Amino acid sequence: MTVPERVVDLRSDTVTLPPPEMRRAIADAEVGDDVYGEDPSVNRLEELAAERFGKEAAVLVPSGTMANLLALLAQAPRGHKILVGDRSDIFLWEAGGASVAGGLIYEPIRTNPDGALDEQQIEAVLYGRDDPQRAPPAVICLENTHGMCGGRLLPQDHLDAIRRFANSEGLSVHLDGARIFNAAVASGLEVAKLAAPADSVCFCLSKGLAAPVGSVVVGNAELVARARRLRRLLGGGMRQAGFIAAAGLFALEKMVDRLREDHLNARRLGEGIRRLPGVRLDPGEVETNIVFWTLDGDRPHVSAVLQALEERGVRMLELDRGRIRAVTHYGIEPDDVARAVEVVGEVLERV
Ligand SMILES: *Cc1c(COP(=O)(O)O)cnc(C)c1O
Repeated sequence: MTVPERVVDLRSDTVTLPPPEMRRAIADAEVGDDVYGEDPSVNRLEELAAERFGKEAAVLVPSGTMANLLALLAQAPRGHKILVGDRSDIFLWEAGGASVAGGLIYEPIRTNPDGALDEQQIEAVLYGRDDPQRAPPAVICLENTHGMCGGRLLPQDHLDAIRRFANSEGLSVHLDGARIFNAAVASGLEVAKLAAPADSVCFCLSKGLAAPVGSVVVGNAELVARARRLRRLLGGGMRQAGFIAAAGLFALEKMVDRLREDHLNARRLGEGIRRLPGVRLDPGEVETNIVFWTLDGDRPHVSAVLQALEERGVRMLELDRGRIRAVTHYGIEPDDVARAVEVVGEVLERV
């Protein structure tokens, strides 16, 4: 077997490397001490983010995980419940931070295939909320696009319904928008429109937008001020963070529109893999840059398939047991997609 000359890494859009122009923007960044509020690049990024999202303020943080944690801690007092999708990143992939660091209680809610939460279950868990035997609810969390649901677009009318519901119950709404720009590009709606029903929104600069690091929390001035203090508390106050912000500014200005190429590539990938024998993949589920597929019944163990792909220079990930994920992103070209489909076909024939 020949050693692959080029690795097609489809494990995640977090493996993106910064484009050459972004690296230059980082090198040339104007910087200062951001803990003193004196980093001009960070200030510009936070202003731009707030403006894009139609909110009062924004704060740059090291990661999406910290962004979600700060947004939740800024809105929910200790001992309160946060209603989270049982397939959400907040519930599954963030090490229980809201509980450990914030004394919050996760109330997992069934998630529909499109990422929407089961509204009847939300009503059911809020029933009797004033009973002193119960922990009171504080925040409902949503995710758009929804990662574990395959990058699906959260239906906007669901977000509106959750907003009305939260208003009637005196709760706030948090939107984990790690990939909200994918949602904006795929739906044709502005991020401000997608974010409007939420009190707080987080987004990642470090995924499809190709910045090396960084996420942002947006919301009203009071919420963001609280998040800023909590960022310090958790050790996320950074000094010359303008080097990160410069990449973020470049990402917001130059990297958003090209996400449509990733979506096109994901559709091509899905179409290609779907035609292979022994594979289950619903092309209707590929709405943005994520493709999930599984092997039919008595196929070999998934880890053997992934290992064989790896040996041929194609990387994918088993995320849930038996579910293989491939994510398109900056750096993945149509030729890479064709190569990946070919290699998956080869491997399924031989393994
Ligand atoms: C990636 C991701 C996060 C966490 O971001 P990190 O920067 O990896 O901490 C949160 N929510 C969703 C939906 C994500 O996809």
